[in-house]
Amino acid sequence: MSEQGLLIVVSGPSGAGKSTVISKVMSDDPSCVFSISATTRPPRGTEQNGVEYFFVDRERFESMIKSGELLEYAEYVGNYYGTPKAPVFESLNRGKNVIFDIEVQGAMQIKQKCPNAALIFIVPPSFSEIEKRLRGRHTDSESKILQRLETARSEYAQAINYDYIVINDDPQKAANEVKAIISAEKCRVEFRKKYVLEV
Ligand code: 5GP
Repeated sequence: MSEQGLLIVVSGPSGAGKSTVISKVMSDDPSCVFSISATTRPPRGTEQNGVEYFFVDRERFESMIKSGELLEYAEYVGNYYGTPKAPVFESLNRGKNVIFDIEVQGAMQIKQKCPNAALIFIVPPSFSEIEKRLRGRHTDSESKILQRLETARSEYAQAINYDYIVINDDPQKAANEVKAIISAEKCRVEFRKKYVLEV
């Protein structure tokens, strides 16, 4: 019997190391696919259109909002970010687990629309790590860094609404915890009740 896929929402402040942890989960677990978001932010470093994000202009993004193409969206540090709906449901129907790297407002929208989604908040071992990691990336301007730090503080306050908190002091260890959460979530009665109700 093929099992239904899960929605796994991963949030955390910039600098928490979310994308490294997610990449490790994806390469260790072929049943997971990454939800590629659309954004109006320009590409950073080696980012490629259709790989990390779909890079679109504000006009295109606003037309996606209007036509209901997005499962959720939010404005974050001056740019739009949103999840195209169709690929998510295609993946779920193929039994894949879909991993989202999204911020807190979007995570709450997904929880509201899809109550079975598992929400994971990733943090570094201490808040001072965030500033260190943001500066170490050398990709954002000083004002963007300060904006991201301010945003990070308010994001911490929202972590209480998540289902799990993972501390990223070592990306492989954090990825193992995320994989353990996925395994446990797949055993929830909501997903497995068909095994008992048909008896
Ligand atoms: P970054 O610019 O560092 O790639 O991402 C900034 C923030 O936007 C991160 O917290 C990331 O998780 C979030 N983000 C990325 N894609 C989406 C999305 O589709 N929807 C929402 N709500 N947030 C997103």
